[in-house]
Amino acid sequence: MKKNDRKDLRKAFILVDYTYDFVAEDGKLTVGEPGQAIEKAIAEKIQLASKCGDFIFVINDLHDEKDLHHPEHKLFPPHNLEGSEGRKLYGSIHELINELEKKHPDRIYQLDKRRYSAFCGTPLELILRQEGIEMLELAGVCTDICVLHTAVDAYHRGFKAIIDERAVASFNGDAHRMALEHFENVLGFEVLKSY
Ligand code: ZN
Repeated sequence: MKKNDRKDLRKAFILVDYTYDFVAEDGKLTVGEPGQAIEKAIAEKIQLASKCGDFIFVINDLHDEKDLHHPEHKLFPPHNLEGSEGRKLYGSIHELINELEKKHPDRIYQLDKRRYSAFCGTPLELILRQEGIEMLELAGVCTDICVLHTAVDAYHRGFKAIIDERAVASFNGDAHRMALEHFENVLGFEVLKSY
C-alpha cells in the first residue's frame, strides 16, 4: 500500500495484551479459543504495518503478585506477573515482534501497563504526539476490557482508531459484540467487519 492511499495519516498498530497468560490454553487468565483464533490475523496486520512503515506498539499487562492493593487483585487470578513466562507474547507473535524489533528498532515499542488502558501510566500518548500519529489500529484482548479501555482513552485524547473484528477477542461473546458496537456507535471509530 502506498503512503498516498493512506491519506498521509501517520498510523500506529497497537497490540494489547496478546500474551501467553491471556491467550494460551493454560494461560492464567485466558480468553481461550477465540483468543487463539485471531493469531493469524494479528500476524498479518503486524507484517502489513511494518511494510507500510507504521509504528508498532506492543503493550502488555505487568503485575506484581505482592501488590495486594491493585484494583484487579480481588477481581482476577494473578496474571502477567513480572518475570513470568505468562508475559511473553503468544505463539508466532513473540518471534515476529523479536525479528521486526531487530530490523526496525526505531519503529517497535514494547511498553508495560499496570491498568486496563494502554494509555494509563505509559508514555504511549507522548510517543504518538511526538511522532505526529493521529490514526491508531487497535488489536488484541480482551475486546471488552483492555482494548475497550484503551479505545475510550484514545477517544478522549482526540485520536482516531480502526478496529478489525478479526483481530480482537474476548472470553465473553456478548461483551465482545457490545464493545464492537461501542467502538462504532459511541466512539465513532471504524470497525472492520469480517462478513
Ligand atoms: Zn491485569
